[in-house]
Amino acid sequence: MIDPTGLTVPQLADAWQSIHTTSPSEEADPLVLDCARRLAADPGGEQARLWVAGLVTMTGYLAWRPGRLAEQAALDALHAAVKALDGQPCSHDSHPFQAEMDALEDEIWLGDTGLLTGKRTTDEGDTGPERVLCPGNVAGWARLAADVIAPFSVRRVPVGAPEYHESCRKTLSGIVNDYPYCDPYEELTDEADGLPARPTRGVLAGFLVTMNATCWYATSERVTERSVLEAMIKGVEEAVPLLDDRPCTHDPGEHPDTRDPDAANSAGYQLRSPGGRAEIAEYYGWDEEDEAEHEDVALDAWVCPVFLEGLAEDTLTELRSGLEAFGTADGDHPETGDDEPEADAPEADHEP
Ligand SMILES: [Zn+2]
Ligand SMILES: [Zn+2]
Repeated sequence: MIDPTGLTVPQLADAWQSIHTTSPSEEADPLVLDCARRLAADPGGEQARLWVAGLVTMTGYLAWRPGRLAEQAALDALHAAVKALDGQPCSHDSHPFQAEMDALEDEIWLGDTGLLTGKRTTDEGDTGPERVLCPGNVAGWARLAADVIAPFSVRRVPVGAPEYHESCRKTLSGIVNDYPYCDPYEELTDEADGLPARPTRGVLAGFLVTMNATCWYATSERVTERSVLEAMIKGVEEAVPLLDDRPCTHDPGEHPDTRDPDAANSAGYQLRSPGGRAEIAEYYGWDEEDEAEHEDVALDAWVCPVFLEGLAEDTLTELRSGLEAFGTADGDHPETGDDEPEADAPEADHEP
C-alpha cells in the first residue's frame, strides 16, 4: 500500500499509473482520496491540473468498483474543478482534450493528458502550455473524467460520439429499420459478444439498451438461425451481473421510454461515451445555460441499474420466447396441446 503523503508529484504520477480497474480498494482508495483532497482544497488553482491529471489516470478504477467514499470524493472534487475553472478567462474555440474524445471507445483514457508536463505530442505535432494548461482544457478533462465515472453528472461536455460508435449505430439502425446493408446475423452476434469484461456504467448501459433495441428484429421471421438468439441471450445474461447495486433514485415514470427501437438503438451507442451522452443531453435541451429549467429530465435514469435490470429481463423474455418458437417451427418440440399457452409461437411483428 502506498502512503501518498509526502510524495513528490513525479512519485505520485507513478503511483497513479499503477492503478487499474482491478486494483484492490486498499491500494487505490488512499491515492484517490489524496488526489481528490488536494483538488478540492483549491479546485481552480495553479495546481488543479495536476490533481485532475491524477483522477483522469485513475478513471479505470473509479469507473468500475471503487470504494464509495473515494468515488464520491473524486466526483465532488472534479465537479468543483469544473465550476471553478469555467469561470476563468479563455479565448480558445477548442482545446486539446477534444482531440482525444474519439479514442474513448471503451471510455478509459490510457494516454497522456499533457496536464503534468504542459505539453502534448501527437502525430500532428506538439501543443504547448498555452493551450494544454488553459483552464478550459483542464476543465474539459475534469468533465470527461466525471462523466465517465458518473454519466450525466456534468453539463457542457462537447457533443460527438467516437466515429466507431457512430458507424456501429448506423449499421444497427439499418437492421432495426429493416433495411440492413450488412449481414444482420454477423452484426447481431458480434454486438452480443462485444462487451468488455469490466465495462464502465455508460458502456454497460449502452450494451443492454442496444440488445433491447435489436431483440425485436432477432425474434422476427427475418432471423432463422438459433445461434443469433443464443449469442444475444448469452451476452445479456453475462452483462446483468455486471450491474452494480446502487439503489434507484427515480420517481415512477422517470425511467427512459425504450419502446421505439430506432431511438433506443441510437441511445444504445450514444450512452457509451461522454460525447455521445452529450448528444442525448442536447436532445433534451439539458445542456443549456439555465440548468434549473431542465431539472425535470432525469437523464441519469439511463444508467440506473434497476431500470437496466428490468430492461434486460424484457430482452431475455423476448429472446427466449423467440428461441422456443424455433423449436416449434422446426418440429423439434411440437406443441402438446392448447393448454400450454407459453408454447404459442409469438406473432411475426414484434414492434413493442
Ligand atoms: Zn482555452
Ligand atoms: Zn432508477
